[in-house]
Amino acid sequence: MDIVVSGIRPTGKLHLGNYFGALKSFVRMQETNNCFFFIADYHSLTTHPTPADLHGNVKNVLVEFLASGLDPEKSTIYIQSDLPEVAELYLLLNMNAYIGELERCTSFKEKIRQNPQNVNAGLLTYPTLMASDIIIHKAQKVPVGKDQEQHLEMTRTFANRFNRLYKVDYFPEPVAYTFDEELVKIPGLDGSLKMSKSDSENNAIFLADDPAVIRKKVMRAVTDTGPVDPGKPKSQPVENLFSLLKTLSTPDIYSHFEEEYSKGTIRYGDMKKQLAEDIIRFNEPFRNRINQLSADNDYLKKTVKLGAEKAHESALKTIREVREIIGFKEF
Ligand code: AMP
Repeated sequence: MDIVVSGIRPTGKLHLGNYFGALKSFVRMQETNNCFFFIADYHSLTTHPTPADLHGNVKNVLVEFLASGLDPEKSTIYIQSDLPEVAELYLLLNMNAYIGELERCTSFKEKIRQNPQNVNAGLLTYPTLMASDIIIHKAQKVPVGKDQEQHLEMTRTFANRFNRLYKVDYFPEPVAYTFDEELVKIPGLDGSLKMSKSDSENNAIFLADDPAVIRKKVMRAVTDTGPVDPGKPKSQPVENLFSLLKTLSTPDIYSHFEEEYSKGTIRYGDMKKQLAEDIIRFNEPFRNRINQLSADNDYLKKTVKLGAEKAHESALKTIREVREIIGFKEF
């Protein structure tokens, strides 16, 4: 049984991309691993949310984690800021993290390009906080997307550096968790390659969206003026709709529209209507569970408490040992 850690930032509602690209596999992963799933609320402070937004977003992610099938009994589901040990380890790791390597991090460069007026120290030291999240549980594996590989590499650097500096073999070197099935990438409804909450309003379908919203978003999805030459590759927006259909409809329906496309008789309106109904059917159980859980504050409170206790037990052991190794000894 490997120790696996994964976090998600509470920056909004979860969409179909989050589900098919991460959560669906996490639900299976928890059957055969000792999983820690956390809501990265410390990380989200780099963008300065209001207190109400912060709490609301943490609740959303918690509810949607649970609605997707993450099980608080099988896994440890917790809120990052419930573990002050993470903040302490972050401080300790920062003493051995160098400005140069942090500045060279691709996601840091990307963030300061997007937001030059908010280049804070939290952004620069994002990789040390991420390393702390992972090694606080001495994790062996981390499920990472392509954009996160560099952070995992940096986590290995910080863990190894600690071991070398103190001449110990303490932190394991975490590696990427490889799923037994290929992760599906969900494209956007606006023609972009990836469904994402930060892009245009109508790019993403959220798990909590109701039927009317889903119909509206899908019917507005970008297409083209029709198949020019069915032998040629489809335009990106149309390819996106087919890709969504493949994931969310039955194989019969998918091949029906493929055939219509290749005959040049396809009506995108019909395909969108079908896609919308299939997404609605897929979303319904999620939406019901989300509504149910959102109204059950007692259950959420109990779940967060259980997660904090389990996570705390693991983190406290690590931080005690790390303090001892560093030389913070008891008198
Ligand atoms: P984010 O909140 O965008 O950082 O995404 C959280 C998780 O969902 C990450 O593991 C991403 O790899 C995954 N994810 C986000 N968007 C998509 C998408 N469009 N298709 C597949 N996976 C996605």
